[in-house]
Amino acid sequence: MAWHKTNVLQCLQCPFFGKCVLDGYVQPETRPMALGTYCHKVRADIKSGDLDLNTWLQEETDDEAAAIIDTTFANDPHLGEHEGVLLEQYLQIDRTGSLMGFPEDVPDGFIAGILDELYLPLKYGWRKGLLHVEDYKTGWVESVRRPEVVFYLLLGWAYCKAAHIEVDRKRFVYFYGRSGRRVTIDYTGSFDELRIEAKNIIRQVEALLENPIPIPGSHCTTCPIITSECPLYVSIPILADKSIGHAVDRFLSTGSMTPAEAPIVGFALHAIEAKIAELKAAIKPWIIENGDIKIGDGAWIVSEYPGGRWNQEVALDILLEEGTPEEARRIALGVDKTRINRLKAFPEVRQRLYKYAYIPGEPEKRMRFKKDK
Ligand code: SF4
Repeated sequence: MAWHKTNVLQCLQCPFFGKCVLDGYVQPETRPMALGTYCHKVRADIKSGDLDLNTWLQEETDDEAAAIIDTTFANDPHLGEHEGVLLEQYLQIDRTGSLMGFPEDVPDGFIAGILDELYLPLKYGWRKGLLHVEDYKTGWVESVRRPEVVFYLLLGWAYCKAAHIEVDRKRFVYFYGRSGRRVTIDYTGSFDELRIEAKNIIRQVEALLENPIPIPGSHCTTCPIITSECPLYVSIPILADKSIGHAVDRFLSTGSMTPAEAPIVGFALHAIEAKIAELKAAIKPWIIENGDIKIGDGAWIVSEYPGGRWNQEVALDILLEEGTPEEARRIALGVDKTRINRLKAFPEVRQRLYKYAYIPGEPEKRMRFKKDK
């Protein structure tokens, strides 16, 4: 079997999920997964010159993707260095480091991966003798994962060996697109040590797969099978299993639960939280296109709100001016529409705030549950 670094990480985090993926179980992509793939593609296209950053930013309708790419390019120190950079290059190597290309039947123990960026060593400048492998991340969690570092470095280094490119220094860099932060790991070991580390990781994964149990953790938040296949989730159907439902209710009203109930109630929170944000983001465009979703005595609707903001400094000046009534001064440390509308008894102050401290903006569409009247 060819070991891909993504499979390895999945198996190490949760053997049950890893096994599902290896068995070919086709799961729907979660929003973070789809967003990550999209941003990687956009970044690669911009770097290769197929897309223009500013044109793309103007035309892009996904605000989250636009914000990530904007920050990414504002913080990329190697923008002009396209020469010698292989983007999204697919490589396969065996454990001795020979480059294998794309064999159909890959023998056991092979390692495969998709390198986000591979800067090959040059004879001058910052890349003098330096093999620089970069992994681009678009998620919120800025983690450093040793198996990822090992697999990617091994791929890059094996490529250099196969292509007879001399390497003096080896560097792995995480580039977090959302924050623009970079984490650099300089590797000082030998190629053989790296190879042995990769072998040990694979052995660890193979052992875990002998008994692929679900291991919950922060990775559950982006797990695409959390509410469908995960044995932990299906074992805690709050609605079907009354004892768990009662434990949750009791905990919410008394603040106490037994040690045996705690992990299962904690996981319930994970499962519910993970889906809510995704569901809200997906349902909003559906409602805009297809109309309200009627449920019982109400409906999920999308309404338009003015998208302006308040200039707190100007509002503060108005509210602290001499003669402003004390009741109005009380909102000086945080002005918003709700607080200002409470100043019904002072229409002049309200009028001045709306006139001078309000900066109009594009209207925003927000989703809410509206009860029937
Ligand atoms: S939700 Fe279940 S299957 Fe998915 S990662 Fe968490 S424990 Fe594993």
